[in-house]
Amino acid sequence: MIHISDVKRYKRCQRLYYLDQDQATVYQPYLRHDEELTKLVVDYLGIDGYYIGQRGDAPERVIKELNDHEWFVKARFAYDDLRIKVPLLHKVRDGYELYFVMYAPFPKDEDVEFYRDNLWVLRENGIKITKVYIVHLNGEYVRDKDLDLKKLFVVSDHLYHQGRPSIKLDDLIDDGYDLSDILARMKKGSLAQHPPIKRRRCKLRGLCDFYAQCFPQVLPDNSIEFLVSSAKKDQMINEGIKYLKDARIDLIEGTRVQYAQIQADRNGGSYHDDLALSKWLASFKDKTLVFIDFEWETYMIPPYRGLRPYEHVPFQYSMHMLKKDGTLTHREFIQTGDCREDFIRSLLKDVPKDAYLIAYNAKGAEMLRLSELKRQFEAYAPFIDELLSRFIDMAYPFQEGLVYDTKMRGNFSVKSLVKVVSDMDYEELAISSGMDAVYKWRLLDLNDKYVDLDDVKKDLSAYCSLDSYSLYLIYKWLLDLMAT
Ligand code: SF4
Repeated sequence: MIHISDVKRYKRCQRLYYLDQDQATVYQPYLRHDEELTKLVVDYLGIDGYYIGQRGDAPERVIKELNDHEWFVKARFAYDDLRIKVPLLHKVRDGYELYFVMYAPFPKDEDVEFYRDNLWVLRENGIKITKVYIVHLNGEYVRDKDLDLKKLFVVSDHLYHQGRPSIKLDDLIDDGYDLSDILARMKKGSLAQHPPIKRRRCKLRGLCDFYAQCFPQVLPDNSIEFLVSSAKKDQMINEGIKYLKDARIDLIEGTRVQYAQIQADRNGGSYHDDLALSKWLASFKDKTLVFIDFEWETYMIPPYRGLRPYEHVPFQYSMHMLKKDGTLTHREFIQTGDCREDFIRSLLKDVPKDAYLIAYNAKGAEMLRLSELKRQFEAYAPFIDELLSRFIDMAYPFQEGLVYDTKMRGNFSVKSLVKVVSDMDYEELAISSGMDAVYKWRLLDLNDKYVDLDDVKKDLSAYCSLDSYSLYLIYKWLLDLMAT
């Protein structure tokens, strides 16, 4: 049996589809949704007495029951070995209305093939679709005490392009689309017929999971492959340029980071802009410094008052505080459930009034989380604003090309930097990534009886502590760099 996600994979890259067939991956959702979305949509539309499909249903089951129901929920259909699950079908006088259910506030037109694939299977099953809708989330909805389904959902009859209406779904109903050829090729083909070829698709919407497997390489730290934000890097590689120091000046964009990378290679591995870096460090060197890191959960459906769809609940922070006398102390917070207000209170208690807060990518992470909390808990707004005014972004010297070491290999994440500046390594921890931390915290939050929750708490603490301690190590490394 072929699933619709297989078709999507095959269309992106045939090799990807066959590689994925060999892997048994455990799906872990990035977004948390404890509620069953289709069930909420059923309530939203006020549907009663419907056919409901089950996992593993034979496709004939729904066909046999077509005459017995008005509404069909999660019905399984199949054609030519392609299996689909249709969220909602509504029988009307001259056919069926089809409702897709999407998690996104704006269902994107770049996913149009998904809708076409579904419509093709239904067409081949003789299901005459008269109208197509998408029920999706209203990104502007703010939850009050109870979830208001009428405000949470929106029904559209079109897809969106950059937040604006684009393709009309009804135009896809009889557009002559035919999947037969693709399915035949999927069934006949094999991995051996599709050798790896490096193309744009390999890095489309993030690096392909099989990139290292397709293109195994042991690259030196100063490889031109690590040149960042370079549109013509592949051209240089094809011309035989191997190292950063040999980059063609007429083929680079000339950003400060690229300059730092090329200079570092020319200098034997390291570069820093002495003047700019010392000026930046001097702006906060004599203060108490709080190196801080947050962890948070992202909810698709807002579970608590004041949250919007896709908003976050910070559940943990770790801070390493460096006093002017050089002493370093550690504090942390971790809680489950709706701990947002406790999080704010604890933070305000733990951070001294005169301290500067140092986070990594602060504007896109810690500061953003605090701004969300400020909107949700207006009484704390003045205090949060005051905290926000004391943030410093540790990513600045790296993202602005003030410093580069070829050992960074074009990667400026905290996890990568800490390996350059110390012998610490996240891989040695039971939790080694932010998403891992979220998955583990979910066990704690849901009070999972199959795991040792004390151990989970210790692992979470070790992970978040390493994040804030890494920031301290990176800071010390920058100071040492200036001293040499
Ligand atoms: S890395 Fe590229 S060639 Fe390999 S499976 Fe992914 S998309 Fe296909």
